[in-house]
Amino acid sequence: MLARPRFCGIMLSAMYKEQYVRYLETVYRKHDGSNLSQSSVEHYANESIRKIDQLIKKYNIANLDSIYQINSLSELERIKMALKQNPEFIQLDLDGNNMYSAGLNHYMDFAEGRDFQNVKSEIELLDQPIPVKGTRIVKERIIQDRDRITIIQAEEASGYLCQVNQSHRTFIAARTQNPYVEGHHIIPLQFQKEFEYSLDVYANILVLCPNCHRLFHYGDRDKSDRVMLLKNVYDQRQQRLENSGIELSKNDFVDLAMADRKETKPHY
Ligand SMILES: [Zn+2]
Ligand SMILES: [Zn+2]
Repeated sequence: MLARPRFCGIMLSAMYKEQYVRYLETVYRKHDGSNLSQSSVEHYANESIRKIDQLIKKYNIANLDSIYQINSLSELERIKMALKQNPEFIQLDLDGNNMYSAGLNHYMDFAEGRDFQNVKSEIELLDQPIPVKGTRIVKERIIQDRDRITIIQAEEASGYLCQVNQSHRTFIAARTQNPYVEGHHIIPLQFQKEFEYSLDVYANILVLCPNCHRLFHYGDRDKSDRVMLLKNVYDQRQQRLENSGIELSKNDFVDLAMADRKETKPHY
């Protein structure tokens, strides 16, 4: 179990930065085979993102303190395109031997979950409590779950296999060219106000085939496997949830997971 970090007023973006640093130090370094040095990790996670954040503010590319706060892949892509056409960014990058565009590309790799497929259970290394206050910016529009970075990363880490039963077959998805799966928040985000730390974390995301996903939302309490599956999920995830700052009993877990208002209407 990882030591629980202390926050005392640390800004939210610092928490996501820490997650990105862990990604570079573990996932990226291990699977890229590039022997990324510690000074490069520092450079990518600190200096290059700080400069990028400054340019985003200066040129009004987005209304936020840091790209670490974004949880929408398409918003991140929009910002990347805007920066790549920005003369100051282009010049900065030229002067810095492409260090800034490399920093941006590495962060995009992280957001897209690149190499997470090779990591599988090592995604646990990225579990940590994320303060709810100032949770990743969703802007005014509702971001579809499909666009949510945390879910995309969890899907990659699952290897596109249903986490109820890896033999469940689906079809090849156009976007990923991998078997189609769906990310499911086990404790629904509608209950966020009851928790001190974010529910939009890897430990609270289950990757499912569409059939199992519907079972978790619509399965009958008594006549389906829904409760039994949730109890198994609790046993598997309890420690990881705790590492993410989410503590609750098995009964509360099952009750919250079952008390999903989506049950009455279709959703994505
Ligand atoms: Zn769901
Ligand atoms: Zn399944």
